[in-house]
Amino acid sequence: MSDMPRTPRSGKPNLRSWDLEVVDGFDAAPNMRRVVFTAADIGELAYRPGQAIVFSMPLPDGANGRRHYTIRAADPSARTIAVDFLKHGDGPSPNWALRARPGDRIEAKGPRGNAWIRLDADWHLLAGDETCIPAIAHMLETLEPGALAFAFIETAGADGEIAIVSPVRAELRWLHRGGPAGPGDVMLDALEAFAFPEGVGHAIVIGETGNVRRQRHALIARGFARERISSEGYWRPGRVGGHDHVDD
Ligand SMILES: Cc1cc2nc3c(=O)[nH]c(=O)nc-3n(C[C@H](O)[C@H](O)[C@H](O)COP(=O)(O)OP(=O)(O)OC[C@H]3O[C@@H](n4cnc5c(N)ncnc54)[C@H](O)[C@@H]3O)c2cc1C
Repeated sequence: MSDMPRTPRSGKPNLRSWDLEVVDGFDAAPNMRRVVFTAADIGELAYRPGQAIVFSMPLPDGANGRRHYTIRAADPSARTIAVDFLKHGDGPSPNWALRARPGDRIEAKGPRGNAWIRLDADWHLLAGDETCIPAIAHMLETLEPGALAFAFIETAGADGEIAIVSPVRAELRWLHRGGPAGPGDVMLDALEAFAFPEGVGHAIVIGETGNVRRQRHALIARGFARERISSEGYWRPGRVGGHDHVDD
């Protein structure tokens, strides 16, 4: 969470470690593999919907690499959390998720991340590509009564859409690029055309780093207060693991 203890030297959050055990794995959508995990202490994983954990992911060369993944759902009675892995191609993470079987173990640290709903906002703007469906879906599904949300999700086409049931006033627009994920204008155009409602908004802008940066700047140019935009690059072509800060 935002007030997590930080290590004095690196400035990085001092995240708790979780020894996760796979209990299930299945396709939650044609392009999304869901893996369900448990841990002895999973009930102590306090997170805000939209936040992520960082897996120590086995790599083809035998080492482990950091890979960020959103907590898609938690079921306290079953003592499980779920993570949705986009099948974006030949990446170590979707490959691991497709092979994961009950009893497999993996370490993760967290929770971390800025993509969470600010309760002091009158309305919420959520924007992201398919890597952000787990975050946006979890946030929409868990909005507080009375909340007002506008969500834009970019996918290749209609087959990348999922059903999202929100308990509150939420407008969801799917934007189809008609091609592979990467730098592009479809989300930028939609955000440029979005009429800001009355009151104080908060925006969560996540996805491919270059797109996120341009979308953030476009909102700021239209008068959106920069401190009311939480933005982060979730991936970018050629980038291996990690994340990009987008706060300029
Ligand atoms: C806070 C946060 C939360 C995230 N949550 C999720 C989530 O819930 N589900 C999810 O699927 N992803 C999520 N991501 C994105 C995920 O961490 C990256 O896509 C990551 O690079 C995947 O690792 P990998 O092992 O598959 O591939 P890597 O080894 O990291 O990359 C291999 C190659 O694949 C490319 N690549 C990576 N991701 C994508 C992509 N999405 N589309 C196209 N090409 C890609 C890279 O550019 C690289 O060339 C999140 C990222 C962050 C920072």
